[in-house]
Amino acid sequence: MTEATVQGDVLEWALEDAGVNRDEILAAVGLRGSAAQSLPLAGPVTLDEEALKYIARATRRSVYFFALPAPPETSRHSVDANFRAPMSNAGQARTLSPDERAAVRDAKRRQQAAEKITRELGHDAVRLPSIPSNATPERAAAVVARWLQWGDVQERRRHITSKTQLFVAIREALEGHGIMTNLLPVEGDALRGFTLHHDHVPLVFVNSAVKHPAARSFTLLHELAHLLRGVDKACDKHDLQSRTSEEAWCNRFAAAFLMSQPELTFYMGKYLKKGFIQDDDIDSVRRIAGYFFCSYYSVAIRLKQLGLASAGLVDAVSGSFEEPAQDGFARGGQTRVQKRLSAYGTGIARLFGEALQNAAVSEIEVRKSLNLKSQNELRNFLALGREAV
Ligand SMILES: [Zn+2]
Repeated sequence: MTEATVQGDVLEWALEDAGVNRDEILAAVGLRGSAAQSLPLAGPVTLDEEALKYIARATRRSVYFFALPAPPETSRHSVDANFRAPMSNAGQARTLSPDERAAVRDAKRRQQAAEKITRELGHDAVRLPSIPSNATPERAAAVVARWLQWGDVQERRRHITSKTQLFVAIREALEGHGIMTNLLPVEGDALRGFTLHHDHVPLVFVNSAVKHPAARSFTLLHELAHLLRGVDKACDKHDLQSRTSEEAWCNRFAAAFLMSQPELTFYMGKYLKKGFIQDDDIDSVRRIAGYFFCSYYSVAIRLKQLGLASAGLVDAVSGSFEEPAQDGFARGGQTRVQKRLSAYGTGIARLFGEALQNAAVSEIEVRKSLNLKSQNELRNFLALGREAV
């Protein structure tokens, strides 16, 4: 059996960085015994290949990471101490799972690769609209809609005809204004999304394990709200249904962006002939959600916020309520390159394309950052990014 020698401190670093149960993993690969369990490992440790692969999988690292002679000097790819974890139902911050930590780490890695390039190309910092801390969600949503040139719903409905298309359109508007958006799967669907603020490459991440496109749009906007308020935060479904403080502000912002007051009241008056939606009137919620291409939940909290429904309606579409699927479940047949573009966003494709044209980066570096296997894949990726403009 092939054996590998790993530095003990590299092993310890990876286990701690991944947030996994160290003792359990060491025991599983036979590094048992009181000394190994209690004292940090140091110096060369010999492992068989299977054990090394097991540790690499558990820590979401490549096996090559364990060939390092010493641990990375800084934890720059790791989850910062000031990164705010989702809240549990009991209102306590929960710890991120290893898979979630890996998602944050990988997003940071791409953010840093993009940052390096924006600096080399001499790009200005991204100018996000400034939202005063005492601004109402309503006001903030109007500022952001203007900034993104979001226009009115009738105009939008000429080219957006589904909830999936609305998600794509919001994403493109953000990408076009310098915000990097990531859409990647994270184990389970507890984590909905997170933000990583940055002067040059602000980033919003949405968990693609959540399939409903309207839920994705809501998450994207909720996380945008955190970003504009300068908070790096990971959020669970629980946060996205929170009715208190910061999370509730972000939820109201998302709902206000999706449905402006005049448009919503106009729709209700003209098509529903109603000025108030009763707690059990889920059909009206469905129709409004269909018109604005958003989720039932966002409709309910928007109506409640505007005094057009009571809290009972929000309760009726919260918690275990499952919104019926209408469209947008992942269409099959995407190529690997299309999947990468959908995961990493079009902004990074355009940025890397510009960098390659200016020889500010090597093809190998770009391919490594974007996990593209060949020159051909890279070319297709860049072409798709250009077409998306
Ligand atoms: Zn949140």
